[in-house]
Amino acid sequence: MPLLVMKFGGTSVADLARIRNAAEKVKREVARGYDVIVIVSAMSGKTNELVGWVESTSPLYDAREYDAVVSSGENVTAGLMALTLQEMDIPARSWQGWQVPIQTTSAHAAARFVDIPRSNIDAKFAEGFKVAVVAGFQGVSPEGRITTLGRGGSDTTAVAFAAAFAAERCDIYTDVDGVYTTDPRISPKARKLDRIAFEEMLELASLGAKVLQTRSVELAMRYKVRLRVLSSFEDTDENSGTLVCDEDEIMESKVVSGVAYSRDEAKMTLLRVEDRPGIAAAIFGPLADAGVNVDMIVQNISETDAPGDKNAYTDMTFSCPTNQVARAKKAIEDARDAGKFIYADLVTDTDVAKVSVVGIGMRSHAGVAARMFSALAAENVNIKVIATSEIKISVLIDRKYMELAVQALHDTFELEKA
Ligand code: ASP
Ligand code: MG
Repeated sequence: MPLLVMKFGGTSVADLARIRNAAEKVKREVARGYDVIVIVSAMSGKTNELVGWVESTSPLYDAREYDAVVSSGENVTAGLMALTLQEMDIPARSWQGWQVPIQTTSAHAAARFVDIPRSNIDAKFAEGFKVAVVAGFQGVSPEGRITTLGRGGSDTTAVAFAAAFAAERCDIYTDVDGVYTTDPRISPKARKLDRIAFEEMLELASLGAKVLQTRSVELAMRYKVRLRVLSSFEDTDENSGTLVCDEDEIMESKVVSGVAYSRDEAKMTLLRVEDRPGIAAAIFGPLADAGVNVDMIVQNISETDAPGDKNAYTDMTFSCPTNQVARAKKAIEDARDAGKFIYADLVTDTDVAKVSVVGIGMRSHAGVAARMFSALAAENVNIKVIATSEIKISVLIDRKYMELAVQALHDTFELEKA
């Protein structure tokens, strides 16, 4: 039997009527001859509520109990989905993570898959069951405790099952009808993409496009799982939504495929640090140890005190999420107090945003950066930091210009045109 994985996000299973609507979609695929593995999220808002309960009960909670509580939302929707399917005369049953068993590491709240053995679910399909409904976001550790995969983790569960069961496709049903060239709330000209390459989706996901958990795209790319993002609130067929796939499956691609943004960025600069071997390691080691997610890094060329002077100084700038600024500041000040390095001042700017253009076409086209920078210049947007990779260019700018910059870049690269 050909097999499909269908994943329904929180808004798609938010109440009983929506679960029924999702079950209708499953029924249609069963009628087409598929065995289906359904992965469900918790009802929308549920996981947040559960996290809140844990934090109110125990601010410095035991992560194992956190996982025991926050994983429960998916147990409810998995059971309800199985019941709904049974009411439609479709042989189905639910599976919690430990029953499969979905084996993960013991990194609670951020667990990674170790193995998903097929035998239990395959045996049920062999008995005549048509649908296995699996609770997303959860697994079981080697110690036998319930784990969760990190917020948004059901996407990753879906892709992991698609890989483990060699599914024909992994359909991610959500509240938007696909992946867009940029956020339609920011640029009304945003266009839905029919296809996007894994690499591009990975950049867009990690740059702040919130449709898919980044980890799920990494996994899909590694195991070449064809991933489709589509709406559970529309009538859909096999051409709906956006297919995330290998770049070989994309006929012609534009130089730039999308514009991403991230609002919650902060820029920190150490003024006049010594310029000597080991200084970057001395600064970024403690930041890493403190769990700060440093993104862009810029080191100025050295400023020498006097001609012939061996004492050289430089400025070191980096960006990190706004909510990690306090932690970053403490890590740097502690390292300075411990004598690891000295600097004249530490300047923090929390009013910045990151805007990026992404596209696999950049590999073979020159001049993308120049076009990007002139578009920003034409709008009088000052660039504070620049970073590039093979398929992406990111700039840090004042947050108040973020919308303007996204719109200008969308226009410049003519992303509204197919
Ligand atoms: N329910 C979990 C969350 O809200 C996992 C998921 O929906 O993907 O993060
Ligand atoms: Mg999600």
